[in-house]
Amino acid sequence: MKILNYINNEWIEPKVSEYANVINPATGDVIAKTPLCGKEEVDAATKAAAAAFPGWRETPVNDRIKYLFKLRDLLINNHDEIGRIITEECGKTFGEAKAEMVRAIENVEVACGMPMMMKGEIAEDIAPGIDEIMLRQPLGVCATIAPFNFPGMITFWYLPYALATGNTYIVKPSERVSMTMQFIFELIEQVGFPKSVVNMVHGSKDAVNAILDHPEIRAITFVGSTNIAKYVYRRAAENGKRVQAQGGAKNPVIIMPDADMDMTTQIVADSAFGCAGQRCLAVSLAVTVGEARNSFNEMICDAASNRVVGNGLDADVQMGPVINQTSKENIEKLIGLGTTEGASALVDGRGTTIKGYEGGAFVRPTVLSDVQPNSEIWKTEIFGPVLSMMHVNTIEEAIKLANSHVYGNQASLFTSSGAAARKFRYEVDAGNVGINIGVAAPMAFFPFSGWKDSFFGDMHGQGMDAVEFFTQKKVVIERWPKEWSRKF
Ligand code: NAD
Repeated sequence: MKILNYINNEWIEPKVSEYANVINPATGDVIAKTPLCGKEEVDAATKAAAAAFPGWRETPVNDRIKYLFKLRDLLINNHDEIGRIITEECGKTFGEAKAEMVRAIENVEVACGMPMMMKGEIAEDIAPGIDEIMLRQPLGVCATIAPFNFPGMITFWYLPYALATGNTYIVKPSERVSMTMQFIFELIEQVGFPKSVVNMVHGSKDAVNAILDHPEIRAITFVGSTNIAKYVYRRAAENGKRVQAQGGAKNPVIIMPDADMDMTTQIVADSAFGCAGQRCLAVSLAVTVGEARNSFNEMICDAASNRVVGNGLDADVQMGPVINQTSKENIEKLIGLGTTEGASALVDGRGTTIKGYEGGAFVRPTVLSDVQPNSEIWKTEIFGPVLSMMHVNTIEEAIKLANSHVYGNQASLFTSSGAAARKFRYEVDAGNVGINIGVAAPMAFFPFSGWKDSFFGDMHGQGMDAVEFFTQKKVVIERWPKEWSRKF
């Protein structure tokens, strides 16, 4: 697939000398090349989007959402093809790839309610003959910088809301998985948005810096690793932009002795090893409480060992490869480090090769027990199919352990006790909380984001938070003395 920028409703081949390889992680084959654009291409897209803004802003909101209805239908009609491309370039199974697009489509559907969602407020007669009005107005040109692990979905936490509220928009996909957005933009072209309302520029660091520094870009959303999220947040904020930056994670799951162990094991295994552990909401630290330890340890090891690993496009495969060989090497190095720090590899996924896919970046599910708090393996986001296990005697100790981590993206509890669930929900420091849930991913009409080092910003993605993020409030106070109306 040829990867091109989309600016002014035209496909443009950028004149760059550097490209990033898009690699099929199951085979190791180079399947596309992402042009690494910079200032010049970001300038062109921003100029186009800025010119389109006044006309798009004046387009009535109920007309703006008609484009989203059309986009929704195209996404649904092409669901299988998008899923296939996601699996091909990102590695997750076809089922997981299709599931991420379900959430993307739901976000388009929620944003179709924008006529209701962006309505203002009015208070009449705050003093005799004086009314106060709050209006929500779009910001101008907004941009999204996306990570590799959800090539389709993450942009849709933002794009439908940015457009429906009347902003014009630039997407910068991950250079490692640019094919999915290339295809989605072919659908966007079929929607027939007015010229330059929605644009795409490919690239990496240079494109990101150009977005962060561009004076005409008003708001930026970023999703990726914590170090880059902090950097993006700082630099964009210094430049006076509205910014939200979602970062990395290390998500704890606490397993109480009264949990249903069959259900718990299945759900925890799906969370830890689904998408090869490359979800920002994947559980990666399992903390057993009291007697939960023995049965859970045994059952999760069985689940890890029995998971069918292979090319995500092959039927019956339950877990695909990680994104590339560098990531595989890094994950294997961290597993090794864990064992030198005193953890035991109860199931060890290092050194995996899959027959017929010898060039693939496969790591089998791995279970490490007796991981020590504050060890490197405890602190570091592994972003692979590795579950670190710890043991404590009480729920208080478990919550304290969970809360001592720098990240706060998600925390889960498995229990049949309402009192334990309530205590956990109340006390745990995380933006997304699961009770007997392994991937607590909020529906499109709830806000998405973590806490602590998993998020830098204020307003979140999806739903009303996205409406708030992509609009600015204007308060108008009007005096219309009663005697004036008597003149008519
Ligand atoms: P990444 O930080 O490497 O890349 C994210 C984006 O930043 C990409 O578009 C990339 O081109 C750009 N980028 C990379 N290096 C840069 C640099 N030096 N300067 C400026 N921009 C740069 O992240 P990734 O590896 O693509 O994605 C995985 C990470 O994203 C994990 O840490 C995961 O936890 C996190 N993530 C978080 C969430 C969330 O909601 N909190 C969701 C998905 C992924």
